[in-house]
Amino acid sequence: MMKQYLETKSQYKDCILFYRLGDFYEMFFEDAITAARELEITLTGKDCGLEERAPMCGVPHHALDGYLNKLVSKGYKVAIGEQVEDPKTAKGIVKREVIRIVTPGTNLNTQALDETKNNYIMCIVYMEDQYGISIADVTTGDYLVTEVDTSRKLIDEINKFLPSEIICNNSFYVSGIDIEDMKNRLGITIYSLDSWYFEDDLCKKSLMEHFKAGSLHAIGLEDYDCGVISAGALLQYLFETQKTSLSHLTSIKPYSTGKFMLIDSSTRRNLELVETLREKNKRGSLLWVLDKTETAMGARLLRSYIEQPLIDKDEIENRLDAIEELNKNAISREEIKEYLKPIYDLERLISKISYKSANPRDLIAFSSSLSMLPYIKYIMGTLKTPLLVEIYEELDTLEDIFSFIDRAIAEEPPIAIKEGGIFKEGFHEEIDKYRHAKTEGKSWLADLEAKERERTGIKGLKIKYNKVFGYYLEVTNSYKDLVPDDYTRKQTLANAERYITPELKELEDIILGAEDKLFSLEYDLFSELRDQIANEVIRIQATAKAIAKIDVFTSLALVAERGNYCRPSINSKGDIDIKNGRHPVVEKMISNDMFIPNDTYLNNTNKRISIITGPNMAGKSTYMRQTALIVLMAQIGSFVPASSAKIGIVDRIFTRVGASDDLASGQSTFMVEMTEVANILRNATSNSLLILDEIGRGTSTFDGLSIAWAVVEHISNPRLLGAKTLFATHYHELTELEGKLDSVNNYCIAVKEQGEDIVFLRKIVKGGADNSYGIQVAKLAGVPESVIARAKEIVSELNDADITAKVKNIAVDNNLKKPKSTKLDEVDLEQMSLFDTVKDDDILEELKGIDLSNLTPIDALNTLYKLQNKI
Ligand code: ADP
Repeated sequence: MMKQYLETKSQYKDCILFYRLGDFYEMFFEDAITAARELEITLTGKDCGLEERAPMCGVPHHALDGYLNKLVSKGYKVAIGEQVEDPKTAKGIVKREVIRIVTPGTNLNTQALDETKNNYIMCIVYMEDQYGISIADVTTGDYLVTEVDTSRKLIDEINKFLPSEIICNNSFYVSGIDIEDMKNRLGITIYSLDSWYFEDDLCKKSLMEHFKAGSLHAIGLEDYDCGVISAGALLQYLFETQKTSLSHLTSIKPYSTGKFMLIDSSTRRNLELVETLREKNKRGSLLWVLDKTETAMGARLLRSYIEQPLIDKDEIENRLDAIEELNKNAISREEIKEYLKPIYDLERLISKISYKSANPRDLIAFSSSLSMLPYIKYIMGTLKTPLLVEIYEELDTLEDIFSFIDRAIAEEPPIAIKEGGIFKEGFHEEIDKYRHAKTEGKSWLADLEAKERERTGIKGLKIKYNKVFGYYLEVTNSYKDLVPDDYTRKQTLANAERYITPELKELEDIILGAEDKLFSLEYDLFSELRDQIANEVIRIQATAKAIAKIDVFTSLALVAERGNYCRPSINSKGDIDIKNGRHPVVEKMISNDMFIPNDTYLNNTNKRISIITGPNMAGKSTYMRQTALIVLMAQIGSFVPASSAKIGIVDRIFTRVGASDDLASGQSTFMVEMTEVANILRNATSNSLLILDEIGRGTSTFDGLSIAWAVVEHISNPRLLGAKTLFATHYHELTELEGKLDSVNNYCIAVKEQGEDIVFLRKIVKGGADNSYGIQVAKLAGVPESVIARAKEIVSELNDADITAKVKNIAVDNNLKKPKSTKLDEVDLEQMSLFDTVKDDDILEELKGIDLSNLTPIDALNTLYKLQNKI
C-alpha cells in the first residue's frame, strides 16, 4: 500500500495528497505534518516497513469538503486519491487514482464560495513585452482572454478580476513585477507552470479541439498571440486538475481592455466601488447601494459592470433606455423581480451537472428555477427597448428540460444518489416493479414473523435487519428453549440469539435483490438524466446570462426609482454638468435627508480645473468622490443621484487621495503620493477625469505648494495634458491661479462662522476660502484647550508674513501648562449643536471614553470622523 502511495505521491509533488483508506482520507510524511498543523488535527504515525514510523494524519471521508476548503483557502493544492475499484471485489491492493486536484482557483465547493462573486483563476503569459491574460471560473463556465502591453494594465486587470489563483510562465517572474508583493497584498496564490504548458502548437491544438473549431479564427482568437498561449495553457491546467471534459466551458470570450473605462487599482480602492477602503466590506461601497439583484448570477454581473464602466455612448444609452422603460412599467419590473427571486444559481448548477456532482435535490432546485422562465419571458415580451428585446430573444424558457426533470424526479428526493427514492412513481416500469417487491417483501416478512411466533410459541420473536447479517430472527434468552431445530444460529448476544431459516433466507434474497437492483437502476437512470441535461449546457448558460442581465437592469431601475436618481444625458464633447449631485453612499449613511446636494460643472475649455478649498471636514473629498462616482455610474449605464446630469464620457478616472493603506508597502507616504502623481501625469489624457486631494501635503510647505502649483499648470495646459480635474488643497495660494490660467476656477465649501467657531454648510460656492479654520476643527475634535490657545497665539504671529522668517522667530514656549483633562460636560455646548443629529447613547459613551490628554490632533480628527459616520 505504501508503495502505491509513494508512486502516486511522486506524480503530485506540489499537492497535499488525500489518500483514501476505507472511511478516511489519510496523509503521510510532509503532507501529514503540514495538514495536521493547518487543520489542527492529531498527527499520528504508521508502521510502514521503514525504520521509523511515518507521520500520518487523516480526516473522515464524509467531512472531506470542510477540510478541503480550509486547506485550499490557505492556498494549498490538494490531490484527491480515491479508490477506483470496489474493495469487496478487488484482488490484492485496491486500485487508487487521483480523481481531481483542488486549488484555490478551481474549488467547486459552492458552500465555500461567495455566490455573489466569481472565483477566478488567471493565467498570465509574458512574451516579448506583451502579457497574455486568460481568466476562467470553473463554477460558472466563464472563460475570457485578452492581451495588454504594460505591467500597469496587467495590474489593472488583476485588480479587476481579483483571481484567487494565478498561474504563469517562467518569464513572468522576470517581467519586473513584484510578485511577492502582489501575493501578500492580494492574498493570491501565484506559481509558474512547466514550460510544456506554453508550447505554441499544443496550446492552439487543445483550444481548437476543446471548442471543436477548425481554426483560431472560428473562436475569434486569430489576432491574439500570447493570449492564445495563455488560454491554451489555462485549459490544459484545468484538464490536469479537474480531470473532466470541461464541457461547461462552452465558449471563450476575447475582450479588449480598450472597450472599458480604465480604472487603476488605487482608484478602484479609493472610490470604494465594491468594498470599503478600511474594513473591506461591501456595506458602504457603490456595489452595496446599487445591488438590489435577486439572483447570484445578477449579483455577479452587476459587480462586473461596476468593475468595467463603458466608454461607448450607444452602449451606455442602450442600458439607460432599458432602465427607463423598466421604470415606466414599474408593475412589470416588480413582477419580473418576483419571478427572479426563486431562481437558484443556474450557472453553478449547470457546472455541477457537467461535473457529475449534482445530486437529485440540485435537479429539483434547477427545475423549480426553470419553471419561472416562461413567466419572465412573457413579461419581457411586452417591453420594447433594444436591449430588453435582445435579452428576450436570448432567454430560452427551457420548457423541455423542465418537463424532463419534472416528469422524472420525485418532489422531495434524497441528496444521496445511491440509495434510491430519486424517481417519481410511474416514471419507469422497472423501478416500480422493484419498489413493489420491496414493499411486498416487508409484508411477507411480517407474515413470516407472525407464523413463526405461532409455530414456536415465542411471543417476543422478531425479524430484524442489519447491514452485516442481513435479516434474522431474534429470540431473547428467556425463550431460548423454544427455538426449533430448523433454526440456524447466526450470532449470540448477551441477552438474545439471532437465527436464520431457509425460508427467511429466500425472502431476504428477493428483498435485498430487489433493493440492490432498484438502487443501481435508479443510480444509472439518474446519471443518464444528468448527462442529458449536461448536453444542453450551451442553452442553459445563455439563459443564465440573460437572467443575470434582466436581474441587473431591474435592480438598477429599482435603485434609480427609490433613490430619486435621474437619467444622465451622455455627450462626447466632454461637458460635465451635474445639478444637485449627491454622493450615493454618503447620502445613505447619514440620516433624514441631511445630505446637502451640490453642482459640478467642468468642460474642456474654460472650466477644466476646479481648485477646491475649505476646512477639513467641510466635505471636499465627499464632493470630489461624488462627482467621480456620478460619472462612473453614468458610464455603467445607471441613473445617477442628481436632479439633472450631463455627462461627457471619460476614458479614465484617476484619484489621488489619502495614502493610508499604502504604508504597508514600505514606501514613505510622500513617495507613494509622488509615484501616483507621476503615474497620473504620464497616463491621463485630455478625456480623463482627475480627482486630486491635497497633492504635496507630505512635504514642507514650500515644496508642497510648489509641486501642487506646477501640477495644476501642467494639467491645465491642453498641450501637455488638459484633463478635467477637481483639485482640493489647503494651499490657499493656489487660488491665485484663477485668472492667471483660463481654465482654472476657484470653489470653496462654505462654512459659517459663529463667534470663534464654525458651522459646516456643506455647500460648494464660487471663490476661494481664505481661512482653513484648522484650529476650529481641532477644537471641534476635542484637542485640549491649552493647545488650541497656544496654536491661536502662533497663528496670529505667522499670519500675513514671510512664514519661514516668522517661524524662525517663534520662541519655544517653556511655560506650557499640562492640558487639563476635558470631560464631556466641559465640551462647549454651542459646538454640540453641530451634532444635533446625535441620538445614540453609544456614541456619547464612546465620546466619554476618549482619553483626550493622550490624543494627537490627527487621531482626534479621525475619531471625530468615525463618530460622525455613526450618526
Ligand atoms: P474634507 O475632505 O473636506 O475633509 P469630507 O468630504 O471627508 O471632508 O467630509 C467630512 C464629513 O462630512 C463626511 O464624512 C460626511 O459625513 C459629511 N459630509 C460631507 N459632505 C456632505 C454633504 N454634502 N452633506 C452632508 N454631509 C456631508
